[in-house]
Amino acid sequence: MSAPQTVPPDGGGRPGGSSRGPAATLAPGPDRRTPGRSVIRPSRSIVAAVTAVLLVGGAGSAWAWTEHEDRVAAEQASAQDRASDVLAAQVRDADEVEAQAADAARVRSAAVLSDARAVLAAAAEHARATLAASDGAVADDAVRKALAAELAGADAALAATGPGAGQSATALRSLSAALAASDAAVVGAHDAWLAEEAAAAAAAAAAPRPSTPGKPATSAPSCGTTYSGPPFYTSPATAGGDGSNGRLPPEALAAISWDVDPHGTPYFLKNAAAAALERLNTAFRGEFGHNLDLDLTYRDYDTQVAMRAALGSVAATPGTSTHGTGLALDVPELPCEYGWDTPQRSWMVSNGPSYGWVSPSWAGRNGSNPEYWHFEYRG
Ligand SMILES: [Zn+2]
Repeated sequence: MSAPQTVPPDGGGRPGGSSRGPAATLAPGPDRRTPGRSVIRPSRSIVAAVTAVLLVGGAGSAWAWTEHEDRVAAEQASAQDRASDVLAAQVRDADEVEAQAADAARVRSAAVLSDARAVLAAAAEHARATLAASDGAVADDAVRKALAAELAGADAALAATGPGAGQSATALRSLSAALAASDAAVVGAHDAWLAEEAAAAAAAAAAPRPSTPGKPATSAPSCGTTYSGPPFYTSPATAGGDGSNGRLPPEALAAISWDVDPHGTPYFLKNAAAAALERLNTAFRGEFGHNLDLDLTYRDYDTQVAMRAALGSVAATPGTSTHGTGLALDVPELPCEYGWDTPQRSWMVSNGPSYGWVSPSWAGRNGSNPEYWHFEYRG
């Protein structure tokens, strides 16, 4: 290509001549006309070259622009992808948090229900013990019947409350509260009864003995009993027993120190009852010169079942006997040392309560089931 050389106004040139931009080269001007020289005008080839340059440049620019747009679009798409990934991760995290919260709520709710069940079970167990201890030992049995009804309701609720039974903790708690209130009413009635018994015993001890000329100072001892069944013996502790009536494990019982039964079985009682009987026996021995005689203390469930089978309704229903609680003792029926009107029985009735041992009213001479040999520990 023959590029025209221009001469700058100052006439200076540059060594080797350098091509300046077309604008400078093509700039027309009268003062630049030099006589003898043709007017400089762009040749077709220059135009074509410039056009080509522009076109190529334009194409290049267009290509570059398109590439730029693609890149931007790709970056935007990539950014959107990243954003949606982040969003999805956040949604997953939120779902996970929600699931964990739901799990925690379920665990909390199960724990609350389990606690309510445990409270009700404990209240039911206490009510059962209260019923056993107050049998025949309240002035009006209506309070015990009410408690028995509450207890039956609690037992039914406890039996029904399995997985999916839909029992609510609130319902269980209200059963517990009702049971506890009923239980407290029986305990109060029983305490009042005990106080009356103790007062009556003290009054009887203080009263002068009836005396009739020609007759003994006291009525003749009497040991009449309706019992005609086979002999039953006291029971050993129930290995592995769950602590319920007739199923007392060794750790719940203590053997009294001065005697064993004809089979060599120790006379077991609940620890507190045994300790109190040791003190009572010391006083008894001081009065009569020998230890208190025993016939039977703890009786296990199986023995009670055998008794019930042998004796029918004279024997307590298995699971309800006070002997099954380790809180009752029988002295021997015969010989008649402890029968009605004997000094030994009178002493037991008068002094037993100060050691927590009483003759229940039902076992009294005019009670519903006269048993001069039976005493219970009430603490
Ligand atoms: Zn008894």
